[in-house]
Amino acid sequence: MINDFKVKREILVKRLVDEGVLKSDKVIKAMLKVPREEFVLPSYRNLAYVDMPLPTMKGQTISAPHMCAMMCEALDIEEGDHVLEVGTGSGYHAALCAEIASSKGFVVTLEIIPELAFFAKNNLKRAGYYSRVSVIVCDGSQGPPFRENVRFDKILVTAAAPQVPKPLLYRIKIGGRMVVPVGRGFYQELIVVERLSEDNYVYRSLGPCLFVKLKGKYGFKEAEEG
Ligand code: SAH
Repeated sequence: MINDFKVKREILVKRLVDEGVLKSDKVIKAMLKVPREEFVLPSYRNLAYVDMPLPTMKGQTISAPHMCAMMCEALDIEEGDHVLEVGTGSGYHAALCAEIASSKGFVVTLEIIPELAFFAKNNLKRAGYYSRVSVIVCDGSQGPPFRENVRFDKILVTAAAPQVPKPLLYRIKIGGRMVVPVGRGFYQELIVVERLSEDNYVYRSLGPCLFVKLKGKYGFKEAEEG
């Protein structure tokens, strides 16, 4: 069964390379290593390497592998990077980031739903990433509950925001970048923000995408009910 997953993982990664989604050795290596089957609900394990989002709990999802790959490529995470994720979900994407940042780097991931944070912690433990990923329960749209001068090389937001959340912009190191889906409920664009200086940010779009809605202060009001 373990080999079976490994083979499926290799086939998926090859397809993502052929499709031009996966480009860099470091992201390819990480996608080949992190066991997505450990991050999906047990009843979906056989679908772990189908390129689609899967339900986790409380109406949330684990993103499709191509979307995780695209975001990691766009972030250009380097060894030793300090990475912040908003929207832990299953913990899979955080594990990918931790794999690329290596043991020299660190990942902090924020989750607003305590049950999902618990789910992710267990998944990260089983997959061997627990010591390199810190899962915190909070409203990540407001940034991490650390001092304001704690900044990150790379930030990823894995839920759709109505606008780029301001508190997260301040958390990007100069020379760093953030990827964030921005738009309406059922249509968003994946935005890359690069911070060139203290108050100079450059934005570009990587095209359309579809994420679950960000909750919290800088999220969608109606997401609170869902
Ligand atoms: N990155 C995840 C998938 C994320 S789905 C993975 O690899 O599996 C989006 C997640 O964002 C959900 O778990 C949702 O509960 C969480 N979320 C939504 N609004 C949030 C907020 N304001 N702060 C932190 N997490 C939030």
